Amino acid sequence: NADVAMYRVKEHGRNNYRFYAPEMTHMAIDRLDMEGNLRRALERGELQVYYQPLVDLGSGGIVGAEALVRWQHPRIGMIQPGEFIPLAEDTGLIIPLGQLVLRQVCADILDWQAAGLPPVKISINLSARQFRQDDLSATIRNVLDETGVEGGRLAFELTESMVMHDVENTLVTLRELKKLGATISLDDFGTGYSSLSYLKRFPIDTLKIDRSFVRDIHEDKDDAAIAHAVIAMAHKLGIKVIAEGVETRDQLRLLSEFSCDEIQGYLFSRPVPVGEFSLMLSKQRSLGDLDKT
Ligand code: C2E
Ligand code: MG
Ligand code: MG
Ligand code: MG
Repeated sequence: NADVAMYRVKEHGRNNYRFYAPEMTHMAIDRLDMEGNLRRALERGELQVYYQPLVDLGSGGIVGAEALVRWQHPRIGMIQPGEFIPLAEDTGLIIPLGQLVLRQVCADILDWQAAGLPPVKISINLSARQFRQDDLSATIRNVLDETGVEGGRLAFELTESMVMHDVENTLVTLRELKKLGATISLDDFGTGYSSLSYLKRFPIDTLKIDRSFVRDIHEDKDDAAIAHAVIAMAHKLGIKVIAEGVETRDQLRLLSEFSCDEIQGYLFSRPVPVGEFSLMLSKQRSLGDLDKT
């Protein structure tokens, strides 16, 4: 459906374009009423939270995970977030969806605590509309209070494009999130109008280098130089660095040389269902285990 395709490209902008490559698109979904489907999916519990481990390069162990939502559609099968987050954002369904993700993450954290698993920090993505919600921090606080999960267990991921407009309101919201005990990560760093001034102006704890800079790091001297410089600069500002999309040992070795703090990527693990992540935690799976496989 050409209308749908054009709509998507327009709405979702430059950086997300790759998610609409034909091979990744569930063609069937175009023929359905996506909004109605997503609304029902929320009610029927078809949305699941997957976890992708964040691995500390010092210890080699899992220190956290990014929560990544998936839609298990009864007929179409698994739908990736690139296919429905933009629509959710557009229709406002991102608000209940975000609530669902937060509640699920808190429930899972409680389960891990009860099972005596080592504490980890869970990173939750916020989209622009969520971030602009007036009562964002109050809604998060409610969930934390209800569940008893400490805010310090959570990190919130924002993108540069979200913080660059309206500096005053951004500052207010970030301070509220930090008051909850949560930390702030700047996601996909390097893909937007990257400005080092954000790092100075806003209380950013962690910077996530986008996978487009990590991809060719072992063969492109410029990418390597950029990654190295970004890591060094972040450290001087007291900011932690996570490299996204680490797929090879060569990338891992270089990032380690550059003193990157943590990595996330298919090399260690894809995003996995909660049961599988719990198993990794209980087995204390680490970077050292890669050598055994
Ligand atoms: P993101 O926050 O930048 O998440 C990282 C994406 O990179 C994930 O895609 C992850 O599966 C993928 N990835 C991780 N390691 C590798 C690797 O080694 N190679 C490659 N090629 N890809 C890797 P995913 O899960 O499809 O999510 C896409 C985007 O959807 C996320 O990008 C995030 O912006 C958004 N998203 C996902 N879950 C949520 C959510 O609960 N709420 C909101 N607001 N947005 C979400
Ligand atoms: Mg993210
Ligand atoms: Mg990212
Ligand atoms: Mg990304």
